Amino acid sequence: MKRALSLGAALFSRSSTAALRRVAVLHLHRDVCDVAVVGGGIVGLATARELILRHPNLTFTLLEKERELARHQSGRNSGVIHSGVYYTPGSLKARLCVSGAALAYDYFDKKNIPYKKCGKGIMAVDSPHTGIVDWRAVCLSYAADFQQAGGSIRTMFTVSDIKPAAQSPPQSSDGLKYPIIIRSSEGEEVRCRFVLTCGGLYADRLSEISGCSAEPRIVPFRGDYLVLKPEKNYLIKGNIYPALDRDGNLVDDFVFDGGVGELGSRVLHVRNAPSPAATSSLAIGMAIADELEARFAL
Ligand SMILES: Cc1cc2nc3c(=O)[nH]c(=O)nc-3n(C[C@H](O)[C@H](O)[C@H](O)COP(=O)(O)OP(=O)(O)OC[C@H]3O[C@@H](n4cnc5c(N)ncnc54)[C@H](O)[C@@H]3O)c2cc1C
Repeated sequence: MKRALSLGAALFSRSSTAALRRVAVLHLHRDVCDVAVVGGGIVGLATARELILRHPNLTFTLLEKERELARHQSGRNSGVIHSGVYYTPGSLKARLCVSGAALAYDYFDKKNIPYKKCGKGIMAVDSPHTGIVDWRAVCLSYAADFQQAGGSIRTMFTVSDIKPAAQSPPQSSDGLKYPIIIRSSEGEEVRCRFVLTCGGLYADRLSEISGCSAEPRIVPFRGDYLVLKPEKNYLIKGNIYPALDRDGNLVDDFVFDGGVGELGSRVLHVRNAPSPAATSSLAIGMAIADELEARFAL
Protein backbone atom coordinates (compact mmCIF):
# COMPACT_ATOMS: atom_id res chain seq x y z
CA MET A 1 0.00 0.00 0.00
CA LYS A 2 2.82 2.35 0.90
CA ARG A 3 4.29 2.40 -2.61
CA ALA A 4 0.91 2.83 -4.26
CA LEU A 5 0.27 6.04 -2.37
CA SER A 6 3.01 8.07 -3.92
CA LEU A 7 1.10 7.85 -7.18
CA GLY A 8 -1.35 10.46 -5.90
CA ALA A 9 1.13 13.20 -6.61
CA ALA A 10 1.90 11.93 -10.08
CA LEU A 11 -1.78 12.17 -10.97
CA PHE A 12 -1.82 15.95 -10.58
CA SER A 13 -3.22 17.71 -13.64
CA ARG A 14 -0.65 19.07 -16.07
CA SER A 15 -3.11 20.81 -18.39
CA SER A 16 -2.30 24.30 -17.14
CA THR A 17 1.30 24.12 -18.29
CA ALA A 18 0.88 24.26 -22.05
CA ALA A 19 1.41 28.02 -22.31
CA LEU A 20 4.49 27.88 -20.09
CA ARG A 21 5.96 25.04 -22.15
CA ARG A 22 5.88 27.21 -25.26
CA VAL A 23 8.01 29.83 -23.50
CA ALA A 24 10.74 27.30 -22.82
CA VAL A 25 11.55 26.43 -26.40
CA LEU A 26 12.68 29.96 -27.28
CA HIS A 27 16.25 29.92 -28.51
CA LEU A 28 18.01 33.16 -27.68
CA HIS A 29 21.53 32.37 -28.80
CA ARG A 30 24.41 34.14 -27.19
CA ASP A 31 27.97 32.98 -27.82
CA VAL A 32 29.68 34.87 -24.99
CA CYS A 33 28.48 35.49 -21.46
CA ASP A 34 29.76 36.17 -17.98
CA VAL A 35 28.31 33.00 -16.46
CA ALA A 36 27.24 29.82 -18.25
CA VAL A 37 24.91 27.52 -16.31
CA VAL A 38 24.91 23.93 -17.57
CA GLY A 39 21.72 21.95 -16.91
CA GLY A 40 18.11 22.93 -17.48
CA GLY A 41 16.64 21.05 -14.54
CA ILE A 42 15.07 22.76 -11.56
CA VAL A 43 18.39 23.41 -9.81
CA GLY A 44 20.06 25.03 -12.84
CA LEU A 45 16.94 27.03 -13.65
CA ALA A 46 16.30 28.25 -10.09
CA THR A 47 19.94 29.25 -9.75
CA ALA A 48 20.13 30.97 -13.14
CA ARG A 49 16.97 32.88 -12.22
CA GLU A 50 18.35 33.89 -8.84
CA LEU A 51 21.69 34.97 -10.33
CA ILE A 52 20.21 37.17 -13.03
CA LEU A 53 17.80 38.80 -10.60
CA ARG A 54 20.75 39.61 -8.31
CA HIS A 55 23.11 40.65 -11.13
CA PRO A 56 21.11 42.29 -13.92
CA ASN A 57 24.29 43.81 -15.38
CA LEU A 58 25.95 40.45 -15.99
CA THR A 59 25.13 38.16 -18.91
CA PHE A 60 23.97 34.58 -18.37
CA THR A 61 23.44 31.64 -20.70
CA LEU A 62 21.85 28.36 -19.71
CA LEU A 63 22.86 25.28 -21.72
CA GLU A 64 20.66 22.18 -21.84
CA LYS A 65 21.28 19.04 -23.84
CA GLU A 66 17.64 18.07 -24.40
CA ARG A 67 15.20 19.69 -26.83
CA GLU A 68 13.12 20.92 -23.87
CA LEU A 69 13.87 21.91 -20.30
CA ALA A 70 13.12 19.71 -17.29
CA ARG A 71 13.13 16.42 -19.21
CA HIS A 72 15.03 14.55 -16.49
CA GLN A 73 14.38 14.29 -12.73
CA SER A 74 12.77 17.73 -12.47
CA GLY A 75 9.97 16.89 -14.88
CA ARG A 76 9.52 13.25 -13.86
CA ASN A 77 9.34 13.33 -10.10
CA SER A 78 6.50 12.62 -7.67
CA GLY A 79 5.22 16.18 -7.60
CA VAL A 80 5.39 16.46 -3.83
CA ILE A 81 6.01 19.75 -2.02
CA HIS A 82 7.77 18.40 1.04
CA SER A 83 7.38 20.07 4.42
CA GLY A 84 10.84 19.13 5.76
CA VAL A 85 9.50 17.02 8.62
CA TYR A 86 11.12 13.96 7.08
CA TYR A 87 14.73 15.16 7.31
CA THR A 88 17.28 15.29 10.12
CA PRO A 89 16.44 18.40 12.22
CA GLY A 90 18.97 21.19 11.68
CA SER A 91 20.59 19.60 8.61
CA LEU A 92 21.15 21.79 5.55
CA LYS A 93 18.70 19.58 3.72
CA ALA A 94 15.96 20.15 6.33
CA ARG A 95 16.60 23.91 6.50
CA LEU A 96 16.59 24.34 2.71
CA CYS A 97 13.43 22.26 2.49
CA VAL A 98 11.53 24.26 5.11
CA SER A 99 12.55 27.66 3.68
CA GLY A 100 12.26 26.36 0.11
CA ALA A 101 8.69 25.11 0.66
CA ALA A 102 7.63 28.47 2.11
CA LEU A 103 9.25 30.32 -0.81
CA ALA A 104 7.66 27.86 -3.25
CA TYR A 105 4.08 28.34 -1.96
CA ASP A 106 4.59 32.09 -2.11
CA TYR A 107 5.93 31.80 -5.67
CA PHE A 108 3.02 29.58 -6.81
CA ASP A 109 0.53 32.13 -5.45
CA LYS A 110 2.28 35.03 -7.20
CA LYS A 111 2.51 33.15 -10.52
CA ASN A 112 -0.89 31.45 -10.31
CA ILE A 113 0.68 27.99 -10.52
CA PRO A 114 -1.93 25.47 -9.30
CA TYR A 115 -1.05 23.28 -6.32
CA LYS A 116 -2.87 21.30 -3.68
CA LYS A 117 -2.06 21.04 0.01
CA CYS A 118 -3.00 17.49 0.86
CA GLY A 119 -0.88 16.66 3.90
CA LYS A 120 1.37 13.67 4.41
CA GLY A 121 1.16 10.79 6.86
CA ILE A 122 4.47 9.40 8.14
CA MET A 123 3.55 6.59 10.49
CA ALA A 124 1.78 8.48 13.33
CA VAL A 125 3.08 11.95 12.42
CA ASP A 126 0.96 14.25 10.28
CA SER A 127 2.41 17.04 8.19
CA PRO A 128 -0.29 19.43 6.93
CA HIS A 129 2.15 21.55 4.87
CA THR A 130 2.86 18.80 2.35
CA GLY A 131 1.32 19.43 -1.07
CA ILE A 132 1.49 18.49 -4.73
CA VAL A 133 2.39 20.55 -7.78
CA ASP A 134 3.57 20.03 -11.35
CA TRP A 135 7.30 20.69 -10.93
CA ARG A 136 7.83 20.85 -14.69
CA ALA A 137 5.44 23.82 -14.84
CA VAL A 138 7.45 25.40 -12.04
CA CYS A 139 10.68 24.86 -14.02
CA LEU A 140 9.19 26.52 -17.06
CA SER A 141 8.05 29.44 -14.97
CA TYR A 142 11.61 29.88 -13.62
CA ALA A 143 12.85 29.75 -17.23
CA ALA A 144 10.37 32.44 -18.24
CA ASP A 145 11.55 34.66 -15.37
CA PHE A 146 15.16 34.10 -16.42
CA GLN A 147 14.48 34.94 -20.06
CA GLN A 148 12.39 37.98 -19.20
CA ALA A 149 15.34 39.28 -17.17
CA GLY A 150 17.57 38.94 -20.27
CA GLY A 151 18.94 35.43 -19.78
CA SER A 152 19.67 33.26 -22.80
CA ILE A 153 18.66 29.59 -23.04
CA ARG A 154 20.18 27.16 -25.53
CA THR A 155 18.58 23.74 -25.69
CA MET A 156 20.03 20.83 -27.69
CA PHE A 157 23.48 21.88 -26.52
CA THR A 158 25.20 18.84 -25.04
CA VAL A 159 28.26 20.08 -23.22
CA SER A 160 31.10 17.78 -24.17
CA ASP A 161 34.17 19.86 -23.32
CA ILE A 162 35.05 22.67 -20.95
CA LYS A 163 38.54 24.12 -21.27
CA PRO A 164 40.57 27.32 -21.06
CA ALA A 165 40.77 29.38 -24.24
CA ALA A 166 44.26 29.52 -25.72
CA GLN A 167 43.51 32.73 -27.60
CA SER A 168 40.72 35.23 -28.20
CA PRO A 169 38.12 34.45 -30.87
CA PRO A 170 38.92 35.60 -34.45
CA GLN A 171 38.06 39.29 -35.04
CA SER A 172 37.39 39.78 -31.34
CA SER A 173 38.29 42.98 -29.55
CA ASP A 174 37.56 41.36 -26.15
CA GLY A 175 40.98 39.77 -25.78
CA LEU A 176 40.66 36.99 -23.23
CA LYS A 177 37.76 38.58 -21.37
CA TYR A 178 35.92 35.27 -21.72
CA PRO A 179 38.69 32.77 -21.01
CA ILE A 180 36.62 29.56 -20.82
CA ILE A 181 35.37 27.66 -23.86
CA ILE A 182 32.38 25.34 -23.53
CA ARG A 183 32.01 23.09 -26.54
CA SER A 184 28.96 21.04 -27.53
CA SER A 185 29.00 17.57 -29.04
CA GLU A 186 27.94 19.26 -32.32
CA GLY A 187 31.02 21.50 -32.28
CA GLU A 188 29.27 24.75 -31.22
CA GLU A 189 31.08 27.01 -28.74
CA VAL A 190 30.08 29.31 -25.92
CA ARG A 191 32.75 31.43 -24.24
CA CYS A 192 32.34 32.66 -20.71
CA ARG A 193 34.11 33.89 -17.59
CA PHE A 194 32.63 31.37 -15.17
CA VAL A 195 30.82 28.03 -15.38
CA LEU A 196 28.26 26.52 -13.03
CA THR A 197 27.18 22.95 -13.71
CA CYS A 198 23.90 21.56 -12.35
CA GLY A 199 23.86 18.30 -14.27
CA GLY A 200 21.74 16.17 -11.93
CA LEU A 201 22.51 12.52 -12.65
CA TYR A 202 25.25 13.61 -15.11
CA ALA A 203 27.09 15.66 -12.49
CA ASP A 204 30.05 13.28 -12.31
CA ARG A 205 30.51 13.25 -16.09
CA LEU A 206 30.42 17.05 -16.31
CA SER A 207 32.97 17.24 -13.54
CA GLU A 208 35.26 14.79 -15.31
CA ILE A 209 35.18 16.58 -18.65
CA SER A 210 36.39 19.76 -16.96
CA GLY A 211 39.27 17.86 -15.35
CA CYS A 212 37.70 17.84 -11.85
CA SER A 213 37.14 14.78 -9.70
CA ALA A 214 34.94 11.87 -10.78
CA GLU A 215 33.90 11.38 -7.13
CA PRO A 216 31.26 11.24 -5.79
CA ARG A 217 29.94 8.93 -8.51
CA ILE A 218 26.26 8.86 -9.43
CA VAL A 219 25.00 5.30 -8.95
CA PRO A 220 21.62 4.68 -10.64
CA PHE A 221 19.01 2.27 -9.32
CA ARG A 222 15.40 1.69 -10.19
CA GLY A 223 12.12 2.30 -8.30
CA ASP A 224 8.46 1.56 -9.13
CA TYR A 225 5.06 3.18 -8.75
CA LEU A 226 2.13 0.83 -8.13
CA VAL A 227 -1.49 1.78 -8.84
CA LEU A 228 -4.10 1.40 -6.11
CA LYS A 229 -7.30 -0.33 -7.33
CA PRO A 230 -10.04 2.31 -7.86
CA GLU A 231 -12.32 0.61 -5.31
CA LYS A 232 -9.59 1.04 -2.67
CA ASN A 233 -8.93 4.74 -3.40
CA TYR A 234 -11.11 5.77 -0.44
CA LEU A 235 -8.45 4.35 1.89
CA ILE A 236 -5.98 7.12 1.12
CA LYS A 237 -6.40 10.89 1.16
CA GLY A 238 -2.76 12.09 1.22
CA ASN A 239 0.81 10.89 0.70
CA ILE A 240 2.34 8.22 2.96
CA TYR A 241 6.07 7.81 3.44
CA PRO A 242 8.15 5.17 5.26
CA ALA A 243 9.51 5.84 8.73
CA LEU A 244 12.74 7.83 8.95
CA ASP A 245 16.09 6.12 8.66
CA ARG A 246 18.83 8.37 9.99
CA ASP A 247 21.63 5.83 9.61
CA GLY A 248 22.13 5.95 5.85
CA ASN A 249 25.65 6.42 4.58
CA LEU A 250 24.82 7.83 1.16
CA VAL A 251 25.97 11.33 0.28
CA ASP A 252 22.70 12.91 1.24
CA ASP A 253 23.37 16.64 1.04
CA PHE A 254 24.98 19.14 -1.29
CA VAL A 255 28.48 18.60 -2.59
CA PHE A 256 30.08 21.61 -4.23
CA ASP A 257 33.23 21.01 -6.19
CA GLY A 258 35.55 23.28 -8.10
CA GLY A 259 39.20 22.99 -8.83
CA VAL A 260 42.45 24.85 -9.04
CA GLY A 261 44.36 26.50 -11.85
CA GLU A 262 43.14 28.41 -14.87
CA LEU A 263 40.03 26.29 -15.43
CA GLY A 264 39.24 24.85 -12.03
CA SER A 265 39.12 28.22 -10.33
CA ARG A 266 36.41 29.35 -12.75
CA VAL A 267 34.16 26.29 -12.52
CA LEU A 268 31.70 25.25 -9.84
CA HIS A 269 30.03 21.85 -10.01
CA VAL A 270 26.90 21.09 -8.00
CA ARG A 271 27.66 17.41 -7.55
CA ASN A 272 24.64 16.27 -5.64
CA ALA A 273 21.22 17.89 -5.35
CA PRO A 274 19.21 15.18 -3.61
CA SER A 275 15.47 14.96 -3.13
CA PRO A 276 13.65 17.18 -2.24
CA ALA A 277 15.62 19.57 -4.46
CA ALA A 278 12.44 20.52 -6.32
CA THR A 279 10.74 21.68 -3.12
CA SER A 280 13.92 23.41 -1.96
CA SER A 281 14.79 24.84 -5.38
CA LEU A 282 14.33 28.54 -4.63
CA ALA A 283 16.33 28.21 -1.41
CA ILE A 284 18.93 26.06 -3.21
CA GLY A 285 19.20 28.70 -5.94
CA MET A 286 19.97 31.29 -3.27
CA ALA A 287 22.55 29.05 -1.56
CA ILE A 288 24.33 28.29 -4.85
CA ALA A 289 24.25 31.98 -5.86
CA ASP A 290 25.87 32.82 -2.49
CA GLU A 291 28.54 30.20 -3.13
CA LEU A 292 29.19 31.50 -6.65
CA GLU A 293 29.46 35.10 -5.46
CA ALA A 294 31.92 34.09 -2.76
CA ARG A 295 34.10 31.95 -5.07
CA PHE A 296 34.11 34.18 -8.13
CA ALA A 297 33.66 37.61 -6.50
CA LEU A 298 30.74 38.31 -8.87
C1 LIG B 1 11.67 9.50 -8.91
C2 LIG B 1 11.94 10.82 -8.23
C3 LIG B 1 10.92 11.42 -7.52
C4 LIG B 1 11.18 12.62 -6.86
N1 LIG B 1 10.15 13.24 -6.21
C5 LIG B 1 10.35 14.47 -5.68
C6 LIG B 1 9.27 15.17 -5.10
O1 LIG B 1 8.15 14.70 -5.09
N2 LIG B 1 9.52 16.40 -4.56
C7 LIG B 1 10.76 16.97 -4.57
O2 LIG B 1 10.90 18.08 -4.05
N3 LIG B 1 11.80 16.32 -5.13
C8 LIG B 1 11.61 15.10 -5.70
N4 LIG B 1 12.64 14.46 -6.30
C9 LIG B 1 13.93 15.11 -6.34
C10 LIG B 1 14.00 16.20 -7.39
O3 LIG B 1 13.17 15.91 -8.50
C11 LIG B 1 15.45 16.31 -7.84
O4 LIG B 1 16.27 16.45 -6.69
C12 LIG B 1 15.62 17.54 -8.74
O5 LIG B 1 14.73 17.49 -9.83
C13 LIG B 1 17.05 17.57 -9.23
O6 LIG B 1 17.13 18.63 -10.15
P1 LIG B 1 18.45 18.85 -10.99
O7 LIG B 1 18.26 20.13 -11.74
O8 LIG B 1 19.62 18.72 -10.08
O9 LIG B 1 18.54 17.58 -11.96
P2 LIG B 1 17.78 17.22 -13.33
O10 LIG B 1 16.36 17.57 -13.28
O11 LIG B 1 18.12 15.80 -13.62
O12 LIG B 1 18.46 18.18 -14.39
C14 LIG B 1 19.77 18.04 -14.85
C15 LIG B 1 19.79 18.60 -16.25
O13 LIG B 1 21.14 18.65 -16.72
C16 LIG B 1 21.11 18.36 -18.10
N5 LIG B 1 22.44 17.91 -18.51
C17 LIG B 1 23.12 16.84 -18.02
N6 LIG B 1 24.31 16.71 -18.68
C18 LIG B 1 24.36 17.73 -19.58
C19 LIG B 1 25.32 18.12 -20.56
N7 LIG B 1 26.45 17.43 -20.77
N8 LIG B 1 25.06 19.23 -21.31
C20 LIG B 1 23.92 19.93 -21.12
N9 LIG B 1 22.97 19.59 -20.22
C21 LIG B 1 23.18 18.51 -19.46
C22 LIG B 1 20.07 17.24 -18.20
O14 LIG B 1 19.61 17.08 -19.53
C23 LIG B 1 19.01 17.76 -17.24
O15 LIG B 1 18.03 18.54 -17.88
C24 LIG B 1 12.45 13.23 -6.94
C25 LIG B 1 13.47 12.61 -7.66
C26 LIG B 1 13.22 11.42 -8.32
C27 LIG B 1 14.33 10.78 -9.11
